[in-house]
Amino acid sequence: MRIPLSRPDVTEREIERVVEVLRSPDLSLGPTLRRFEEAFAAYTGRQHAVAVNSGTSGLFLSLLSLGIGPGDEVITTPFTFIASATSIMMTGARPVFVDIDPVSLNIDPPRIEAAVTGRTKAVLPVEIFGNPAGFDKVRDVVERHRLPIVEDSCEALGSVLHGRKAGTFGTISVFGFYPNKQITTGEGGMIVTDRDDLADLCVSLRNQGRGAKGGWLAHERLGYNFRLSDINCALGLAQLSRIDEIKAKRRQVAAWYREMLAAEDRLIVPNDASGCETSWFVFVVQLAEPYGLQQRDRILQEMGRQGIQVSNYFPPVHLQPFIAVQYGHARGDFPVAESMSRRTIALPFYNRLTQDEIAVICGVLRGVLDACR
Ligand SMILES: *Cc1c(COP(=O)(O)O)cnc(C)c1O
Repeated sequence: MRIPLSRPDVTEREIERVVEVLRSPDLSLGPTLRRFEEAFAAYTGRQHAVAVNSGTSGLFLSLLSLGIGPGDEVITTPFTFIASATSIMMTGARPVFVDIDPVSLNIDPPRIEAAVTGRTKAVLPVEIFGNPAGFDKVRDVVERHRLPIVEDSCEALGSVLHGRKAGTFGTISVFGFYPNKQITTGEGGMIVTDRDDLADLCVSLRNQGRGAKGGWLAHERLGYNFRLSDINCALGLAQLSRIDEIKAKRRQVAAWYREMLAAEDRLIVPNDASGCETSWFVFVVQLAEPYGLQQRDRILQEMGRQGIQVSNYFPPVHLQPFIAVQYGHARGDFPVAESMSRRTIALPFYNRLTQDEIAVICGVLRGVLDACR
């Protein structure tokens, strides 16, 4: 593969920080965990940050901390990574999907309203591809119904809508640090909230249900081991200190793509939505009509064959077989999400992608579009 879809950006300084922790006695629940959480709370402007071992764990614990469980419903989007829905299922609650806005690709606020029932306990919106467009409207709708928001910001660290950061729209909000995200800890995630009760519960739930006071072998509730080691936190802390530089690099890569694809009318190329400054998780172009699924899949295959790794972000969550069977979903249930899913191509996207590499990618893409007409 000549150009990968994603590639982490880890500096020598960051490697040194990890090694320093390895030489210390505190590999877990140590000072580096606390420093990472403090720095993350400060960056997002939230009262509390609780580090966990993945974004998925973070979503799951956030839902548990709100008391969500069997018999409850949580409204979410079908156009997302699987964890947005499976974290709801893990609690025993039901994910209730509503279709997306065709421009922002985020959950469509008016449709949330129509999906609220007596069982609805929360709304879980996702800043898809890092785009926070519409999140002010999501908040308005959800607040009217006095429901909490579990904000899946796993793709959006550093994105801003009208001066407000991703990760500040939720009652509780969650970030992910898998290697393809804006910052990485190898594996990891972070829960942020302004509510003391939710933060305290998440701290206990990630650490075997231990309480703030009792000892190591006193367990107050059913908990989990979702701790993030200080080794991971050292990497995250150092990466977070570069977030402005990382965001600038990603915005530059997106700008280069837009420049080079500006004249390509067979593609819809993403841009910052009005009032948004996106930190870009991935760069996903859409094939214009009348390109369909078969052509898209041939394009993906041919790009791969020519050494450019691309992907179909995202297949509709409600049509993943285990979810479709469990909740009785079928093709046609969420037409906007399904139509988008048939036409998207995620192009290689990472901090160190150069202008020359982007020219190569765009050249190959043009040739493949000609061949797959
Ligand atoms: C990455 C991601 C997550 C969390 O993924 P983990 O691999 O568990 O860290 C959750 N939701 C979305 C939308 C994501 O992109």
